[in-house]
Amino acid sequence: MHVVEFIEKKRDGGEHSPAELQEWIAAYVEGAVPDYQMAAWLMAVYFRGMTAAETAELTLAMAHSGEVLDLAGLGKTVDKHSSGGVGDKTTLVVAPILAAAGLVVAKMSGRGLAHTGGTIDKLESIPGWRAELSDEEFLRQAREVGLVIAGQSKNLAPADGKMYALRDVTGTVPSIPLIASSIMSKKLAAGARIITLDVKVGRGAFMKDLAHARELARLMVSIGRHAGREVRAVLSQMDEPLGRAVGNAIEVREAIATLRGEGPGDLTELSLALAREALEAAGEDPARAEEVWKSGAALEKLRAFVAAQGGDARVVDEPERLELAPDVYELRAEASGVVTELDAYRVGLAVLRLGGGRERKGDAIDHGVGVRLAKKVGDRVAEGDILATVFHRAGRGLEESSQRLKEAYRIGQRASVPPLILEVVA
Ligand code: URA
Repeated sequence: MHVVEFIEKKRDGGEHSPAELQEWIAAYVEGAVPDYQMAAWLMAVYFRGMTAAETAELTLAMAHSGEVLDLAGLGKTVDKHSSGGVGDKTTLVVAPILAAAGLVVAKMSGRGLAHTGGTIDKLESIPGWRAELSDEEFLRQAREVGLVIAGQSKNLAPADGKMYALRDVTGTVPSIPLIASSIMSKKLAAGARIITLDVKVGRGAFMKDLAHARELARLMVSIGRHAGREVRAVLSQMDEPLGRAVGNAIEVREAIATLRGEGPGDLTELSLALAREALEAAGEDPARAEEVWKSGAALEKLRAFVAAQGGDARVVDEPERLELAPDVYELRAEASGVVTELDAYRVGLAVLRLGGGRERKGDAIDHGVGVRLAKKVGDRVAEGDILATVFHRAGRGLEESSQRLKEAYRIGQRASVPPLILEVVA
């Protein structure tokens, strides 16, 4: 292939053919195309964009750049993905509901990124729980338990791993076709037939406004359809954190409470909505979501899942076994009124500074630190009331964390509470 001509074509606003895109990705993964040429092309895509057809072909080429899991024969397989938020422990609630309703949840998840948390980090706060599974273990657990969540395998969509690292350092992350192909290449390679996407919109999300989130959601749904998968996307609000717990162990506690019917309203509402979408996409009765949640079958599925991956399943009945950091700081209201804003981005940073997330790739994290939000948007407060409780370890990062948290709250006279679920794209 003529690499320079290929790059020039995109630079000048041309459209690539499927064969060109396949050759391009294959050459990059083999090392025949160096990073500087890929970086030049990524920047051309950033400015010129790609058609939906080009994006779908790029995604397929990336998905087939490594191992593609074959989940055929496992029944109705489902994957759920969030574009990333603060306090977003929805997978821990939705996955057991879907598995209890008879679908097979076989999913690979990531770790926290920037100010957002990751499902694998949260689950690793359960003593003994193991994210690294061989392909055989992954498939066996999917078959026997109906629910398996593993860390992202390096062999899955390796083109994305290389391209994402390059985008991160060349200013080319915020491109809708590049984000859509990055997310969907991993989902397609992971093999599930049904894919439910939770696209977060707002201050604490990567997509800050509805128009861009909608464009991303539509593109991902069309890519999935092009690849023969059943994809639905729910656009949900991420201006304020989801639920009242932000951290790792503290979020697992909240997810367990939600499966018991004792969780916060927003987390319960979103989890059930996502579960209904997945069940409908699978041709099942969406009412099953609420049935298995209320009957305790979903909680039972969580127990089986935790035990199957080596975790201490007693945490499901005794969540206090999920250790929280021992030191406590209470942020109190300096005025009376109503909470008009609670900036999810700043709350995410507050937990990051305590050590609950990573400043650099590979950093160890503290699963016990976190924040419990006593007040959220729309709640009345009197001067001196506790707004939030911070669980910290001997003051590490507390000064900056409490500052971020203080800035996250705005107290005024009247609040408008935005709807949680903004749109469904099917
Ligand atoms: N998450 C991904 O996996 N890829 C992106 O490009 C952005 C978010």
